[in-house]
Amino acid sequence: MKKEYIIPVFVPHLGCPNDCIFCNQKSISGQKKEMTKEEVQKTIEETLKQINDIEAEKEIAFFGGSFTGIPEEKQEEFLQCAYEYIKQGKVNSIRISTRPDYIDKTVLKRLKKYKVKTIELGVQSANDYILARAGRGHNFKQVQKASKLIRWYGFTLGHQMMVGLPESTRIDEINTAKALIKLKPKMIRIYPVLVLKGTKLEKEYQEGTYDPLPLVQAVETSKQLVRMFADHHIDVIRVGLQNTDEIADPTSSKSEIVAGPFHPAFRQLVESEMWYDAIVGKIKKLNVKVKEVEVTVNPIDSNNVIGHKKANVTKLKELYDVELIVKQDKTIKQGKSKIQITKTYQDFKEK
Ligand code: SF4
Repeated sequence: MKKEYIIPVFVPHLGCPNDCIFCNQKSISGQKKEMTKEEVQKTIEETLKQINDIEAEKEIAFFGGSFTGIPEEKQEEFLQCAYEYIKQGKVNSIRISTRPDYIDKTVLKRLKKYKVKTIELGVQSANDYILARAGRGHNFKQVQKASKLIRWYGFTLGHQMMVGLPESTRIDEINTAKALIKLKPKMIRIYPVLVLKGTKLEKEYQEGTYDPLPLVQAVETSKQLVRMFADHHIDVIRVGLQNTDEIADPTSSKSEIVAGPFHPAFRQLVESEMWYDAIVGKIKKLNVKVKEVEVTVNPIDSNNVIGHKKANVTKLKELYDVELIVKQDKTIKQGKSKIQITKTYQDFKEK
């Protein structure tokens, strides 16, 4: 299988007149100045130099801000620049992210002209009250309309949703996932809300009107969402914001995070919990007291089975008195496993 590379180009806050309560695009993208065509080119060139694999699939991704809200001439400039690399065969596709209310037929025709393949929509919630409370400036009907139009024009559709917005509960987030599944996105990003410096949410947090989700709760909800999307064959391409100098542990001097469920390995926490549930589920189904369980997985999954700082090994020992043995087997598909009970309490006693 060909390796896939993303060439990220950040267009922070460019074209976005909104001020969502949680957003400080400049912190999220780790970039403070506005993008120019020359800089887009420079970023692409520099990233391409680092990819030596000629066969690999390469995608230029305009992240941050709301791409289709940028003045038209600027959009054309950026797209033209990216399209040149497609024409030269150096890059395979283009991806953009934007708001649902910045999608219409004219916009989509323009994106088609430059061979954009994927459009990611910032949805955040399917609940209009929560959207309004977060200052999103659009409603869920607009998400539905934009999603249908995007698919109708033949683009690959992606969604982004949040966990822990003000006044949002786990039920709201599960309902959002259900509503999004109906819109048939190909991929999804799940972001737990972090309180960033300079945002309205920071003010609410300081005033005591917003309580961020504790890490365990954010992990628990994200786990349920990942499972729901996976059950519907929707790729969960990100869980948690990408770590940068600014999106880092709040104790670091450069960090822009004031509070919230930040963890440098957030996705690993979620996936480890899912493996833990699978192992415990298997043990509970048996009518014997298990002493040792052997889990064989693809090498890519083995750290997640063991858990962050061996969390699953420790939990199984402490809660169930079960030893966890993890084995690797390249022939097992990623995400699949062979779970075997290798010792029961009876064997142990006889020994
Ligand atoms: S629409 Fe996007 S870029 Fe604009 S303020 Fe909201 S989250 Fe930030």
